[in-house]
Formats: sequence, structure tokens, C-alpha cells
Amino acid sequence: MLSIKDLTVRIEDKLILQGINLEVAAGEVHAIMGPNGSGKSTLAQTLAGHPDYHVCQGQVSYQGKDLLSLNVEQRAGAGVFLAFQYPVEIPGVSNIHFLKSALNSLRKQRGEPELDAFDFLTDVKQKMAQMQMEEALLYRGVNEGFSGGEKKSNEILQLLVLEPQLAILDETDSGLDIDALKRVAAGVNAFRSPERALILVTHYQRLLEYLVPDRVHVLQDGRIIRSGGPELALELEQQGYAPNQPETITDL
Ligand code: ADP
Ligand code: MG
Ligand code: MG
Repeated sequence: MLSIKDLTVRIEDKLILQGINLEVAAGEVHAIMGPNGSGKSTLAQTLAGHPDYHVCQGQVSYQGKDLLSLNVEQRAGAGVFLAFQYPVEIPGVSNIHFLKSALNSLRKQRGEPELDAFDFLTDVKQKMAQMQMEEALLYRGVNEGFSGGEKKSNEILQLLVLEPQLAILDETDSGLDIDALKRVAAGVNAFRSPERALILVTHYQRLLEYLVPDRVHVLQDGRIIRSGGPELALELEQQGYAPNQPETITDL
């Protein structure tokens, strides 16, 4: 589904990603872990097509297409979805209007007819119930005044409504209490299918107890320095990202 080769990315004149290679097949869940500032969000934003992130080198192929040649809307239309680390507030645009416009825009790109308003609302409410979200959140501005947990749940609601093929979740678990984390994980597990792939950016192993990945990759200084199975996340949790660092200065 996704093949990243030697991806090198800069922001302004700063080199952030330095030759990323990653293969994600349909049906797989890959976790990207790594210390703060290692480039995890940069990878996510680059795949989603954020204009500030300049690709200097490398290729990204998505379902056989050159992903980097598509603009943000075309990528969304092709089934790529990014849940932001810091979900944006859109005051004045109701959540329900936003969801409906986003889905209709995707359907238009795919040559599908507009949704029936009643069927759409029924579907959204059912998905909100699944996420244990209050229906009142549909009629407020997108994320406007939402709590941290409500914003993260709202990202997962978008995921469930828009039904992308490749979802990239950037620290969707950060700042959640354990019950909210379980709800988010249940929502994401409901999204998993043999046709869909998922890239989870996370700092913590905790989410991965509920959402078991096929592969775990460690990003550091813009490079993938290790890859492994789910056990790698546990090891990182116990030993940190730099297990071979000397404990004290005398070890040097
Ligand atoms: P992570 O998500 O792993 O914490 P990021 O991808 O957010 O890391 O950041 C990687 C590096 O890129 C950091 O050094 C960060 O300061 C830098 N960076 C991110 N966004 C910008 C920006 N808009 N302008 C300049 N530097 C940035
Ligand atoms: Mg960070
Ligand atoms: Mg980040």
C-alpha cells in the first residue's frame, strides 16, 4: 500500500528526515516511536502533504501512485487521512457540517453521489455512540472549546466517518486518561481491516497494549534506527530510547 524510499525532508533550511525507508502493506499496523523532536510529526505531515515540509530526496508510492505528486485534497481523495497531534479548532464551522462537507468532497472526487442527510446523521450518531461521545459535540464549532480527550475522540470520529485506506495517527493517545485511551483504541480497532493500513505515531507503549501493531519502528534524528515486532515497544518502555548509553560518567 505504502512504500517510502530514502525520504529526505527539510523545513525551511533545516534537514529533518534523513533517508526514511518504510514499507506498509494493506491490513498492517505500524507504530512509529521515538524521542521528542526526532521527526515523527514531520513524517506524518509530509505524507499528508503539508506545504511547509519540502521533500529534497526520495520517493513515496501509495497504491502504485506517486503520492508526492498529489496535493493535499488529492491525497485525501485517494484515501489518506492524518489525525493531528494538535487538532485544529475551526470556530464558526459546526462539527456536523465539517464532517458532512469533508465526506461529500471525498465522494465527489470518487464520482459518488452526495449523501442523504438523514442516513449520514444516523451513521454519525451511531459512530459517536460507539466512541461514547456526546451528540452535542456535533453542533459546536469543530474542536472549539473541546477538552483534550474530546478533540482526540473527534479525530477518531473523523476517521470512522471518512473511512480512509491509509490512516496516520499522530500521538492520538497523548494526554488521554486510561478510559479515554481505551475508547480511542476501540475506535481505531473498529477501523482496522485487511484493506486498510495504519501508521500510529506514539511515545508510549500503553496504547500498543490495546492496539497491537505488526511492526514497531524507532525514529531518531530523522532516521529509522531500529525496527521490530510489538515486543520492541515493551523493550523501549523498560529501557528508554537510548539503552546503551553509559549510566554514569565513570562508565566512559
Ligand atoms: P516529533 O514529532 O518527533 O516530536 P517533529 O517532527 O515535530 O518531531 O520535529 C522534528 C524537528 O523539526 C524538531 O527539531 C522541530 O523543532 C523541527 N520543526 C518542526 N516543525 C518545524 C517548523 N515549522 N519550523 C522549523 N522547525 C520545525
Ligand atoms: Mg513531539
Ligand atoms: Mg510530534
